Amino acid sequence: MQLKLIRTRLILLVTAILVCGFLTTNILSFQVSKNALRTTILNNELPLTSDNIYSEIQTDLLRPILVSSLMANDTFLREWVIDGERDTGKIVRYLDNIRNRYDAFTTFFISNKTLAYYHFSGPSRIIDENNPEDDWFFRVRDMKDEYEINVDDNEQQGGAITIFINYKTFDSNGKFIGVSGVGLGLSSVAAMVKKYEQDFSRNIFFVDKTGFVRVSSQESIANNNINNMNGIQNLATEALSKDRGSFSYSRDGEEYLLTTRYIPELKWYLFVELPESEATAGIRRGFIENIIIGFVVIGITIAMIIYVINFAQRQLESMAVTDKLTGLGNRQAFDVSFGDAIKRARRTNEDVSLMMIDFDNFKSVNDSFGHIAGDEVIKRVIGFIKPMLRESDILCRWGGEEFSVVMPACNAKNAATIAEDIRDGVMDEIFVGQDINWRMTISIGISELSGTSDDAVDMLRRADSALYLAKENGRNRIEVAQII
Ligand code: GH3
Ligand code: MG
Ligand code: MG
Repeated sequence: MQLKLIRTRLILLVTAILVCGFLTTNILSFQVSKNALRTTILNNELPLTSDNIYSEIQTDLLRPILVSSLMANDTFLREWVIDGERDTGKIVRYLDNIRNRYDAFTTFFISNKTLAYYHFSGPSRIIDENNPEDDWFFRVRDMKDEYEINVDDNEQQGGAITIFINYKTFDSNGKFIGVSGVGLGLSSVAAMVKKYEQDFSRNIFFVDKTGFVRVSSQESIANNNINNMNGIQNLATEALSKDRGSFSYSRDGEEYLLTTRYIPELKWYLFVELPESEATAGIRRGFIENIIIGFVVIGITIAMIIYVINFAQRQLESMAVTDKLTGLGNRQAFDVSFGDAIKRARRTNEDVSLMMIDFDNFKSVNDSFGHIAGDEVIKRVIGFIKPMLRESDILCRWGGEEFSVVMPACNAKNAATIAEDIRDGVMDEIFVGQDINWRMTISIGISELSGTSDDAVDMLRRADSALYLAKENGRNRIEVAQII
């Protein structure tokens, strides 16, 4: 019981050490890889995506800027203005032509002299210095640069976002005569954003300087202000004050990694974010696989430990009841077997006999040939006796050169017959050393279970007395104890 408890404790302790050690190292290495991955995403991957998008935007803007520049330097346009803006059909056809040729969203010219807004689909109106919507014209007129890029909600196109290239136009003497240019829809930028989102499973959106989300394919974000959005509002002020930024925040129960970048051409911020769970899915899967493999290995290890402990325990138990020289049960094994045999005999009303065997004059065997040879003789005698007994008989080493045989379902008479055969056989077959004249002989005392008050101790005592009698009567003989 005590041993079992120690064994259970040992196995539990080893299991706990293995599981704790294994979990700790795995969790630590998972955290380390996760942090390394976060750093890489925030410092490299997301900024790289921003850079790619930015350069695509720049490429997209290059052509409309060139077209606007062509218009600003077009001789027809200049001469038509200098000629007094007479045939408006001509300018409308010209604008429409440019629009078709370069696939622009809109083309326009605003005259500085008449303040007329010419549009590819016809003259629209006269602009007004007091109308805030027309402020941009007077801003462009007074600015130093040749052109500007202006992102605007086009009031004539139902609020759709248009990027305008406003180019200053001069006559041949360098006198400012108006603003020409093209407008393009955001569809190309939006398409690119979508492609990036699909290819890299990243969320991409544009935010203006006030924090308002201008372009996004996500419904939960579009047309919101980041200053009012869960999680992201905490970093809004910082993000909108820096050209570049890296953040992590949580929104709707999901952790996000975010980088921001100011796009001066659009005067917008580009936000590129990645749900952390998507980024770390790979290493999370690796972590779970490691855990499974680890637990299988721990399971196998524990099973092996249990097997070895059980094996060692069985070995010890068997050693405790086995005699090393003969391989027979020892005194302890005899006590148990003998007790069991008596109990069974009482239950089934069968006989039980007991033989006590002692080697004759064994001391002189040792004295003459040495103990090693003596041991050899003991083994040979036992090897001879064993096959003469029944399967159910139990032969044990009682001690020294004395052996006992418990014989279930056998009365003293039958036991005596068998004992006589054994004695006779040993005398005939077993010699000591090579000397045919030194015959090994044994004496045997026999007792039988009798009466209800009889017990193991008394049976042993009677068999021992019978053996003593056999020795008294000259050795190499058997004696049966009187039945009481
Ligand atoms: P007896 O006929 O009266 O039995 O004479 P004996 O010499 O056999 O006397 P006893 O039985 O008293 O002594 C047993 C001797 O057997 C003493 C001991 O040295 C020897 N002996 C006991 N166990 C072993 C053993 O395992 N190996 C060897 N070689 N000798 C043993
Ligand atoms: Mg003896
Ligand atoms: Mg003896």
